[in-house]
Amino acid sequence: MSRSQKPHSSRRQYLKSSVKLLGFVLLLREIDIAWGAKILGVRIWPSEDYTRITLESDTPLPITQQILTNPDRLVVDVQGMELNATLKDLVAKVKPNDPYVSQIRIGQFQPGVTRLVFDLKEPVKPQLFTLDPVAEYQYRMVLDLYPSTPPDPLMELVKSSARKEKALEKSNEEIDLIAQFAIKKEKEAPKTPMAQAIPEIKEIPAPAKYKRLITIAIDPGHGGEDPGAIGSMGSKEKNVVLSIAKRLRDKIEGEAYMRPFLTRDGDYFVPLHVRVQKARRVEADLFVSIHADAFIESRAKGASVFVLSQMGASSSMARWMANKENASDLIGGINIKTQDKQVANLLLDMSTTAQIKDSLQVGNSILKQIGGFATLHKGKVEQASFAVLKAPDIPSILVETAFISNPQEEARLNDDAYQDRIAEAILKGIKEYFSKNPPVARRINS
Ligand SMILES: [Zn+2]
Repeated sequence: MSRSQKPHSSRRQYLKSSVKLLGFVLLLREIDIAWGAKILGVRIWPSEDYTRITLESDTPLPITQQILTNPDRLVVDVQGMELNATLKDLVAKVKPNDPYVSQIRIGQFQPGVTRLVFDLKEPVKPQLFTLDPVAEYQYRMVLDLYPSTPPDPLMELVKSSARKEKALEKSNEEIDLIAQFAIKKEKEAPKTPMAQAIPEIKEIPAPAKYKRLITIAIDPGHGGEDPGAIGSMGSKEKNVVLSIAKRLRDKIEGEAYMRPFLTRDGDYFVPLHVRVQKARRVEADLFVSIHADAFIESRAKGASVFVLSQMGASSSMARWMANKENASDLIGGINIKTQDKQVANLLLDMSTTAQIKDSLQVGNSILKQIGGFATLHKGKVEQASFAVLKAPDIPSILVETAFISNPQEEARLNDDAYQDRIAEAILKGIKEYFSKNPPVARRINS
């Protein structure tokens, strides 16, 4: 600081208060015309299901949108926001493999109005909505771009597992043929020695355990705007569980009589009821939700398996966990206007008694397998009212693979070997369950 400052101190004081006053006036002006909203973050979550764009700000943003064709584009005008560097970041965040957005252009349309132009790869059905502050987030403006013709998960699954289905059919036919041949031989010549009755087969086909493929819906928890729990080293639950889920998918893919289906295969949010809907659409024989949550105490450790409860939770910890998981929609962000209330109510009205019975069985098999090498939080399957486990016709379990809030377990969750062992244990539990409870013939619409 220079020596010449002293004589001017009173003048500086005056200037200082003037600046303060000016600042105050500016602040008032901002509130008055809702201008100069501060953009805190811009995010884009591309996926086949839909691409989501989120603008997070310190005040709600008034927005209008219009769809233009030839070429397909979506124009969004945001009031009370000046173009800034954070917003400009959005342009660079568009990935070349985004299924719906080819590029975003941003410009100052009018003073105080910023225009975002989304150049589209195909026509979309946009859904625009706002979310109030929740968890770590302030106000969010969400733009979901859905394809005009949504992909059908069942069609894709049938296509991807066609070869396996054929192989299983063929193996079933061969088994039937051998059986028929043996019966015929027996009838024709009941006194012929056994050696002659057996048809000449170089290689006896592996016995088909099941008459059809068993579909396993694997549900990696959270995703996109919902990171799930975050460990002290910064690991996010959504990433860890996706990695474990993909390992399980690959293992199931390797089984001759099973096919995997992932409710999400990337970093984007899937609302809880959509996870259930997807599993029902592919007529899953089992729904396995994979998590790695935090608990209030960082000392808490061990894996757990949860199933649905119709009458309260089996422990306070189970209740706490269910409440936390059910809040996923609030954090991940859903457009409540489009929620299919009818479907939701229909699901709630159907009895889940049989489902819970089966879920407990498969849950126990998996818990036993995990307990073979990892710490268990409790030696039995726990129950609580998890929204994602409410499919009335599909046994549904939720596996908490470990506590990401426990530093030791966080390290383990990031370990390839541990992830692989967890996936292997889940697979073994699933196989054990189905060997005791072979699936019945296909339901309708197959
Ligand atoms: Zn979770």
